[in-house]
Amino acid sequence: MFGKIVFFVLLGLLLFVLWQKKRMPKVKQEESEPVEPEAKKMVQCPVCGVHFAEVDGVWISGTTYCSQECADKAQGAKRD
Ligand SMILES: [Zn+2]
Repeated sequence: MFGKIVFFVLLGLLLFVLWQKKRMPKVKQEESEPVEPEAKKMVQCPVCGVHFAEVDGVWISGTTYCSQECADKAQGAKRD
C-alpha cells in the first residue's frame, strides 16, 4: 500500500519536472519583443497634418486621409 503511494508521488514529480522543462523555451519566446509589421507604414493627413498608419486611413482618389471627415473636407475644398 505504502509502496504504491511512493510510486505515484515519484511519477507525479517526474511528470512535473518534464512539464517544467517543456515550458521553459516557450516562456523565453514570449519575452522577446514583437516585431512591428511592415504594413503599418505611417503617412501624414494632407488636411489636418496628423500622422497615422496607412492601413487605417481612408482612401479617396489615390490620397489617404486620417478619417472620413478629413476626406470630406478635402473633397469639399476642391469643389469650392
Ligand atoms: Zn486628417
